[in-house]
Amino acid sequence: MKIHEYQAKTLFRQYNVPVPEGKAAFSVEEAGQVASGLGGFPVVVKAQIHAGGRGKGGGVKLAHSMEEVKSLADEILGMTLVTHQTGPEGRLVQKLLIEAGQKIEKELYLSLLVDRATATVVIMASRDGGMDIEEVAEKTPERIIKVHVNPLMGLSGYQIRQVGFGLKLPSAAMKKFSGLLSNLYKFFVANDCSLVEINPLILTADDDVLALDAKVDFDSNALFRHKDLLELRDLDEENPLEVEASKYNLNYINLDGNVGNIVNGAGLAMATMDIIKNAGATPANFMDVGGGASSEQVENAFRIILADEKVKAVLINIFGGILRCDIFAQGVVDAAKKTGINIPVVVRMEGTNVDTGKKILADAGLNLTSAVDLSDAAQKIAEAVK
Ligand code: GDP
Ligand code: MN
Repeated sequence: MKIHEYQAKTLFRQYNVPVPEGKAAFSVEEAGQVASGLGGFPVVVKAQIHAGGRGKGGGVKLAHSMEEVKSLADEILGMTLVTHQTGPEGRLVQKLLIEAGQKIEKELYLSLLVDRATATVVIMASRDGGMDIEEVAEKTPERIIKVHVNPLMGLSGYQIRQVGFGLKLPSAAMKKFSGLLSNLYKFFVANDCSLVEINPLILTADDDVLALDAKVDFDSNALFRHKDLLELRDLDEENPLEVEASKYNLNYINLDGNVGNIVNGAGLAMATMDIIKNAGATPANFMDVGGGASSEQVENAFRIILADEKVKAVLINIFGGILRCDIFAQGVVDAAKKTGINIPVVVRMEGTNVDTGKKILADAGLNLTSAVDLSDAAQKIAEAVK
């Protein structure tokens, strides 16, 4: 689960990770109020969306007077911000962060993330902050410092110094940095983060270090033990169909293609997406209704996929085990009755109660194409979207 920069910075403050003074604002008037409380200029007006690259897209601007704060707030609030992370459709800006402007001596990069391969928390840092870190990693990987922290041992002093020396920090800034990194690590572990990224971490002229940007992603599988963090979720930033699917415990991810698919089991869903690709089409989603789905869940899954305007055909691939084919078929029939099907639907169904399932589908008189096996299903679905 991602959160906004302003929310991340509030949490950082609680862990004594230094950030500039500032507050969120939801209107032009509020932006002015926050700015007047900062006691000076420049003031930074920052769009709050769950995507990076805001600066380049025109979503981060410096104001040198109260009039400028208001005119920039007015310009940025309500704009559709397009960055390399939002896709061409962009994202509507509904919130701002108003912050005290900082004098930047050097922009650095610092992040913590879970490295599954080594089962450690990896700290990544670079003197090439403020810019596209993916590009730095690709072109000059030697400019990225990596330190692996064994979660059982915790973060040691020598590892903090390794990062600090790697960043070539002036000695006067070392103590501040050491506190920042050690507190950031505590924050990361205590909240089950999967990623914390500060780009840029800045060094000021008076050897201060602080987080100028803050990106935080929590491990959603651990959120059950952080009920307080759940309140930070912003549904405006999530795909509406994914939000709808999560209400019914459906494992659904919206993708770019035009073949919707409904599958039971994550492994089968992955394989089905591969098969769709292999046949020359592209999946519009990942949808795993789960091993023990009810017909109501199936109905909701079908309705959600049909509500996606990109979807030009649907492939149903069910291997009836715990989820019986008759229950699945009933869900499809119920959904079709409610929403109507006006696009091609190909069904491949095998397993427990398959004959009853097929009979339910046939008796309903729906416009479905059945497939004899998986490759037949793939051919038919690719044909349907051609
Ligand atoms: P991003 O573009 O979405 O990653 O947003 P950032 O929060 O990283 O801001 C983008 C850039 O704006 C930073 O890399 C800085 O160069 C600049 N910026 C942000 N805050 C300040 C500030 O207080 N003072 C100055 N001079 N520049 C700032
Ligand atoms: Mn940034």
